[in-house]
Amino acid sequence: MARMTLRLKLGLSFLLVGLVSASAVGGAAWWMLMRDFQASVEEKAFKNFRGDVEAYVTQFGSWEAAERVYAFPDFVRQRHLPRAPLSAAEQPDDERPGSPRRRRPPFKFTLIHADGRVIQAAEGVARGQIAPPEWRKNAYPIKIDGKVALYAIPLGRAELSADDRIYLGLMRRALFVGLAVAVVVAAAFGFVFGNRLAASLGELTKAIRGLRTDGELPESLPVRSKDEIGQLAEAFNHMGQSLSDAHRELRTSNETILAQSEQLREQARRDHLTALHNRRYLDEQGQTMYAHTVRHHRPMCVMLTDLDHFKRINDQYSHGTGDEVLKRVAQILENNVRSSDLVARYGGEEFAAIFAESSLAQARERCETLRRMVENEPWEDLAPGLKVTLSIGLCDNLALGSLSAMLSEADDQLYRAKDNGRNRVEPGVVNCVVQADVAVPE
Ligand code: GH3
Ligand code: MG
Ligand code: MG
Repeated sequence: MARMTLRLKLGLSFLLVGLVSASAVGGAAWWMLMRDFQASVEEKAFKNFRGDVEAYVTQFGSWEAAERVYAFPDFVRQRHLPRAPLSAAEQPDDERPGSPRRRRPPFKFTLIHADGRVIQAAEGVARGQIAPPEWRKNAYPIKIDGKVALYAIPLGRAELSADDRIYLGLMRRALFVGLAVAVVVAAAFGFVFGNRLAASLGELTKAIRGLRTDGELPESLPVRSKDEIGQLAEAFNHMGQSLSDAHRELRTSNETILAQSEQLREQARRDHLTALHNRRYLDEQGQTMYAHTVRHHRPMCVMLTDLDHFKRINDQYSHGTGDEVLKRVAQILENNVRSSDLVARYGGEEFAAIFAESSLAQARERCETLRRMVENEPWEDLAPGLKVTLSIGLCDNLALGSLSAMLSEADDQLYRAKDNGRNRVEPGVVNCVVQADVAVPE
């Protein structure tokens, strides 16, 4: 079924309401008009009938005596025969030429005696019968010599004259025209009203559809009235503002949370003292590097280094000096490996590194440089007579099966370096001479 628009629904509703109410008003008006019209015709007819009856009875003394002379209908006919015209003042209403009474009696009355006997019968009633009591409810009393002697009972409906019918026809037409005008006006109102309402709701629908998820403030609706539509527009504008505010707050707190969580994540994988990555990060990241290297059949080397006689440095100088030494060694290591390599503080005075894409020879070369840099660092800056060296163990054997196995092997090599006199790299040079100057790392 085709979609019914609001303006069509409202227009049709107004049309229907107009039709129903105009019909009700028109119907009631018509019914009252007909009732009063009938009553006035009946009353007028009774006045004429009463005049005839009074004249009839008065002229002969009683109804029975009159009937012996004249039948009542003959008397009436005789009584209303045209005679010499009277002056206008003398003429009773009902006897003016052209009056309905003169042309045709509009109403037939049944006349009953005070004792209930029918003495003059209209159609469908037998003369002499006793009138049922309910007839008297509508009966008009007729007094003779000041006493109610007879009753006239209207039976049936008034027969309307041609003039009456023309008059009623005109009234009916006027009522129909009024009804049609009322319906057309109601429908027009409905369509205009529906149009305005639909336009306002259309604006609201468009605005709601245009609501954006990025928290952008929606275009505010014009508030044209204080009625429900105006209140709706106001509520929408308020909602749009609140949504936008809430979105902005949410975005700000989201950014704060993200920044804080990134900070926390970074803190969790960094060593507090040296700012190098910590052992946990090395384990996680190193495993990925190991897996990647094995999958692509590439070389990789793992390094473990430990400061020589560090306990002595702590004892001889101070724990603070020991910390400074650790920080400086960390910087030397961090600044002198490639960005694709990974350096971490592994334990107290131990550091680890993973050299990606490095053979043992390349790694050894790099470690010799590092060892030399540490050894040649101007430690006197920190404390007079301070000397720092480190021992390094290496492992390039990916066949060991895991990063931790390689680290364990590097640890063994580190012990060898310690055992072999410290300040050295193991496994040491077998067939190659270590160059004094090594290229700066990428
Ligand atoms: P070796 O040459 O055999 O390695 O001897 P070492 O003295 O370095 O070895 P040892 O394991 O006996 O001593 C390591 C010392 O490092 C002990 C510990 O107090 C110190 N240390 C560990 N972490 C820190 C730290 O964060 N700061 C300082 N100042 N000292 C630390
Ligand atoms: Mg140690
Ligand atoms: Mg040590």
